[in-house]
Amino acid sequence: MKMVEDEKFRWILHCGWKGLCPRCGEGKLFSSWLKIADKCDVCGLDYRFASPDDGPAFFSLCIVAFPLVFLVVWLQVALESPFWVHLLTSFPLISLGCALPLRPIKGWLVASQYVNKAQEAGTEKLWAQLNGASESDEWFEGK
Ligand SMILES: [Zn+2]
Repeated sequence: MKMVEDEKFRWILHCGWKGLCPRCGEGKLFSSWLKIADKCDVCGLDYRFASPDDGPAFFSLCIVAFPLVFLVVWLQVALESPFWVHLLTSFPLISLGCALPLRPIKGWLVASQYVNKAQEAGTEKLWAQLNGASESDEWFEGK
């Protein structure tokens, strides 16, 4: 059974959002808030292939921080809010807005890396080892 793009996408969303292993969908992807576990505790998938590094921070900046900054500027311009309003609203909003999406975004990146077997410069060797050392080529057809 080949996965069509649509199914892939939904699988990535599902695993990323819930922080689940992108192979079995049951094991936990994270060992703590933002730390990727070493491997899946259910199916044993080695998470070392995952290298989302700066991705999540970048995405959350683009998706959340910039609109929030606009909101803050708008607050300032439209309502002429005093500084303490920003202190109470804007700063918590921005820090939360940046921190909260990090985990699902990180999960999505890892899941999509796994599903699409994305390669970044420098990870080819690891990929070769992972693929050579396991049956992962058939990872989805067998399900
Ligand atoms: Zn797993």
